[in-house]
Amino acid sequence: DVPVEKYEYQAEVSRLMDLIVNSLYSNKEVFLRELISNASDALDKLRFLSVTAPELMEGAPELDIRIQTDQENGIITLTDSGIGMTHEELVDSLGTIAHSGTAKFLKALKDSKDAGTDSNLIGQFGVGFYSAFLVADKVVVSTKSPKSDKQYVWEGEANSSSYIVREETDPEKLIPRGTSIMLYLKRDDKGFAHPERIERLVKNYSQFVSFPIYTWQEKGFTKEVEVDEDPAEAKKDGTDDNVEKKKKTKKVVEKYWDWELTNETQPIWLRNPKEVTTQEYNEFYRKAFNEYLDPLASSHFTTEGEVEFRSILYVPAVTPMGKEDIVNPKTKNIRLYVKRVFISDDFDGELFPRYLSFVKGVVDSNDLPLNVSREILQESRIVRIMRKRLVRKAFDMILGISMSENREDYEKFWENFGKHLKLGCIEDRENHKRLAPLLRFFSSQSEQEMISLDEYVENMKPDQKDIYYIAADSVTSAKNTPFLERLYEKDLEVLFLVDPIDEVAVTNLKAYKEKNFVDISKEDLDIGEKNEEKEKEMKQEFGHICDWMKKRLGDKVASVQISNRLKASPCVLVSGKFGWSANMERLMKAQTV
Ligand code: ADP
Ligand code: MG
Repeated sequence: DVPVEKYEYQAEVSRLMDLIVNSLYSNKEVFLRELISNASDALDKLRFLSVTAPELMEGAPELDIRIQTDQENGIITLTDSGIGMTHEELVDSLGTIAHSGTAKFLKALKDSKDAGTDSNLIGQFGVGFYSAFLVADKVVVSTKSPKSDKQYVWEGEANSSSYIVREETDPEKLIPRGTSIMLYLKRDDKGFAHPERIERLVKNYSQFVSFPIYTWQEKGFTKEVEVDEDPAEAKKDGTDDNVEKKKKTKKVVEKYWDWELTNETQPIWLRNPKEVTTQEYNEFYRKAFNEYLDPLASSHFTTEGEVEFRSILYVPAVTPMGKEDIVNPKTKNIRLYVKRVFISDDFDGELFPRYLSFVKGVVDSNDLPLNVSREILQESRIVRIMRKRLVRKAFDMILGISMSENREDYEKFWENFGKHLKLGCIEDRENHKRLAPLLRFFSSQSEQEMISLDEYVENMKPDQKDIYYIAADSVTSAKNTPFLERLYEKDLEVLFLVDPIDEVAVTNLKAYKEKNFVDISKEDLDIGEKNEEKEKEMKQEFGHICDWMKKRLGDKVASVQISNRLKASPCVLVSGKFGWSANMERLMKAQTV
């Protein structure tokens, strides 16, 4: 007898299982999507590792997924020839929460008031392996990793806080490599063990799985057989019994069971963009990135010539949940393939600058080696060219959103990713020309709706040379500053930079369409009304007051000057031409405390 080890689930898993088993009733069929996606991941891992270790494929060269149904007993068996799991991996993976989507799911459940009834959430997020318990009250996983010479069995039941692990001893269940999952369906869910139903679900959910999925189907072919004529019939004919029996041919359907290829395995990015619908792109996005909202935009392209690769890029409609770190993003947003083999989703940083880390997508290259590593990517000339093209396509896509009829789309984009683009102004000089038209600001003439720099430039006065801005902590404080008095009077528009990063971004850009950005809070502001006569007069009249004030204020100010920038206020404190603006100073102070 083999020893049976008993384990307790991690607390979160127990909670999740309890929810799945007792509260979520609709949309149960997603269990199949989750299990197929795990099988596909396991096959991806194996294919990747076998590039450098071909011996891993020994004994089972086929990479596929097979689903068999036992209608009578209500059992579904899903087998993959993927990487399998060792004893340790089995306990780690199926006793704790590994799935990032699961964490998202739990958070969303917490956020939604009536968690129990909102079972639609499970369809949106998926909860990975445990969704097997949506339909099964017992799940048996038998798995063989090439790293281990033994095959192990994991066995769990609904409504139990523990599971068991033992060695596989049934010779009929031994497999050369991979994982086989048996679902013992709940009484009311036995209908899932119907071969046609499984076929329909596979077609529905696994369109984008790049490994063949076979389902066990009953088939039939017609053949002609010779049969003896019915003796009763013969008598009616009045023929004699002793006469040699008449032969007759009849068509019969011969039934048998066999594996049938059920999915289409060509990856979507290899298809002709003209033949792929928006709906298919969106579906692929949701599937590949575990998203439940459609993207804001997508772009599918092929480059040829110097470097050959295919890619589909997406702009998400939402920022990732939880606190997002745009300075050190740890995203898994770009899935890199080499000649259709999935390599890694860990190379975002090599393929995109970090300020564009929110862009998601797949990139499939024919020019990189299969055993590509981060070091190779960082050194590679090919990757440099790819990166340039990818960035350009990403900008085209964002520009597309900004030009959309539907202004709300870009507003949504800007709210989510505006900060990233401003970071780009600071970090990516080379793309200033692409970044600047995408920026949005409030202004003295548009306090409610943000405007673009193009809109600003269009609205400039004929003799206006510069783009004016004032940095402040809010629109209200910006519009109440005395610096604006004269500009309001002359109907000159002033950008309100109210996000702390705005001013740094704008100073990095320096100019837009050959018009300099000018901070109206600095000395020397020239709003085109120099009058030397008048200035001389003023100096004579008020010069001594300035001197007196400077004496009284001492080191607190650099100088006291006469200016024509004010209208109602008697005086204003401005920053030196080369010094920090008051806003910057406030920011720097905030950072040092
Ligand atoms: P996720 O797929 O997001 O990691 P799941 O809950 O779906 O989360 O699966 C948990 C883990 O169990 C996987 O990460 C993987 O390590 C392991 N696993 C599940 N199914 C298989 C399988 N068919 N072959 C190998 N490993 C698997
Ligand atoms: Mg999974």
